[in-house]
Amino acid sequence: MDDCIFCKIVNKELPSHVVYEDELTLAILDIFPASEGHTLVIPKKHYLNFTDVPEQELKALAVTSQRVLKAILKSEILPQGANVLTNHGEVAGQDVMHFHWHLIPRFTSDSLGKVFNREFAQKDTQELAQIATKIKSYIN
Ligand code: AMP
Ligand code: ZN
Repeated sequence: MDDCIFCKIVNKELPSHVVYEDELTLAILDIFPASEGHTLVIPKKHYLNFTDVPEQELKALAVTSQRVLKAILKSEILPQGANVLTNHGEVAGQDVMHFHWHLIPRFTSDSLGKVFNREFAQKDTQELAQIATKIKSYIN
């Protein structure tokens, strides 16, 4: 993908701060970090989003994410927790159209709040059952 920032980073056409790299995955620091140590884990090949990533690479990305997060948590950055998330599609806040997982270290002192910082109403069992049925019919 010619215009993709992350492809350019993978190909070393753009600089980045690499914290981990292997055959299939790359972990770099986010240049607009939400908190200290905010890291992006990306596949070296270009895939648009979570549902486009083939299983083998998805496993590699999960393993890399866990390995890097363990390092962040043990490091002198010393976060108390982390958010691990992906923004899937523009409507969900995806700006870079090359799949990535955010590893966002969290601190009791930070002001980031919860990812969904509001109360949701509990749905009744019948409605939940209907929604589960809608989803289940597409699982393959
Ligand atoms: P998203 O909004 O989920 O697509 O996240 C894209 C992330 O990429 C944002 O957190 C940006 O700060 C980050 N970002 C954009 N350009 C770069 C870059 N050149 N190097 C590292 N991170 C970047
Ligand atoms: Zn790309």
